[in-house]
Amino acid sequence: MSPRLEVDLAAFDHNLAVIRRTIGSAEFMLVVKDDAYGHGIPALLPRAVTAGVRWVGAFDVPTARAVRRAVGSATRIFVWMLSSPDDVAEAIDLDLDLGIGDPELLEDVADRARTALSPVRVHLKIDTGLHRNGFRPEGWDAAVRRARDLEREGLMQIVGVWSHIAEASRQDDDDARAAFERGLENARDLGVVPALRHLSASSASFARPDFRYDLVRIGAFAYGIAPTDGPTATALGLRPIARLVTRVVDVDEDIARIAIGSLDGLLSTLGGRIEVGTAHGPRRLLFVGSSESGIDGAGLVIGDEVVVYGPGTCGEHTATALAQSIGTIGEEIAVRISPRVERTYSPATGERAS
Ligand SMILES: *Cc1c(COP(=O)(O)O)cnc(C)c1O
Repeated sequence: MSPRLEVDLAAFDHNLAVIRRTIGSAEFMLVVKDDAYGHGIPALLPRAVTAGVRWVGAFDVPTARAVRRAVGSATRIFVWMLSSPDDVAEAIDLDLDLGIGDPELLEDVADRARTALSPVRVHLKIDTGLHRNGFRPEGWDAAVRRARDLEREGLMQIVGVWSHIAEASRQDDDDARAAFERGLENARDLGVVPALRHLSASSASFARPDFRYDLVRIGAFAYGIAPTDGPTATALGLRPIARLVTRVVDVDEDIARIAIGSLDGLLSTLGGRIEVGTAHGPRRLLFVGSSESGIDGAGLVIGDEVVVYGPGTCGEHTATALAQSIGTIGEEIAVRISPRVERTYSPATGERAS
């Protein structure tokens, strides 16, 4: 008996539809880093394409490759973590959209673009306060000018201007948006008017209409993962798409051992802090071992199903609720689930709930 992650594709469809309705006329980029936040790119991506998703945010080249394998060239794929000239070369060969926020990388792209068949599509990133690879405001004009000149040479096409915000405090986000506006204005003064301006991820895309611009990059909400210290998934109209389930493998007096542990990606800090769901009601998770963990065993027998998180447990046992109990975010719980945990999908891939 081993744990499995049960992914509900109908719930995923539902969330995509809710996102579409909420973001109005903005383009929707589905963010799929870390194998679609642990849920599995091969099963989810065809579904997303059927639902009309035309942009995928892949983070890095290996993830982009997995997206291509799943859905061919049905979507544009945006990557923003390029770490070497080899990475750049492969990204260009794969015809990806490149997020560029570093002068050296811009030159790597220019070098490689000379042998490309068509202009390389770039999205210039301005740092608006997070200090994660973006052109700093003082280097912004030079970067835009350089990219513009490379565009005039026919080597690249400036498709977008973008940034990333923390979505933790309203004031910080407002400041970031003001910096973004200044960057756009400077670009305009230099003759660069990108078709796609993008700034917001899940939370701001829902809560702050003026942060949506032309495109929103959404990961967590597509998977029904709500922010910590924010509205619940239910309040947002979203459904959690996964249940992490396992079984009781041994009962010894007061302790039932369940087949899941830190090797499966269950964070050991959850021991003593959460309850899991059983047919007999919630049970305290007492400790997390490497491949087995212990729960309060009263009334349980070998073979009983145990729901670590997801629908069907008692109360709010979402990944976000688990995360909150140890001071992290729901995404962190989801992406930790090890590849050795089997993923199952319902309805079966290809079938659609009506
Ligand atoms: C992860 C990520 C997103 C998506 O964030 P969510 O909060 O999961 O929607 C968007 N943009 C960038 C640059 C990211 O790294």
